[in-house]
Amino acid sequence: MTQSDISLHKRLTIALVAHDRRKVDMVEWATYNAEMLSKHKIICTGTTGGLIKDAFDKKGIDADITCVNSGPMGGDAEIAALVAQKKINLAVFLIDDLNAQPHEADIQMLLRQCRIHNVPIACNRYSADLMITSSLWDNEEYQPKEPKYVYFHREEQQ
Ligand code: PGA
Repeated sequence: MTQSDISLHKRLTIALVAHDRRKVDMVEWATYNAEMLSKHKIICTGTTGGLIKDAFDKKGIDADITCVNSGPMGGDAEIAALVAQKKINLAVFLIDDLNAQPHEADIQMLLRQCRIHNVPIACNRYSADLMITSSLWDNEEYQPKEPKYVYFHREEQQ
């Protein structure tokens, strides 16, 4: 798959966050998809955003990248708040699953807000690739179903 195969016509707001040991993966992924990402609005935590900007500069790609605070200083919480305000269309969140993080509570908040508000969130590159290449973004007839928080009554299903 090449970047030109990606048909994503709607302008989206995309959140990109990577923990320190996952930044190599994030920069690689974002650089590979730089041309596509430059057509959208990108919101990043501080350090992740700085690294992506540098990588895009090297490629001469101008992109709309906004950086919030660094993750441990509240960046994940700021992005979670944007999710709750329905201002994020999709998120790529590369979590360091092998090392404890000082801001675990904020990490869980961001994940939880994405689940509650039905925001697609990819936690690995394969999921991110599948998400950004989905034709559903441009399908006007497709309406994502909101999550249901109800008891399952077996008898009502019969
Ligand atoms: P950073 O934050 O991009 O500022 O490193 C990411 C995080 O730790 O959540």
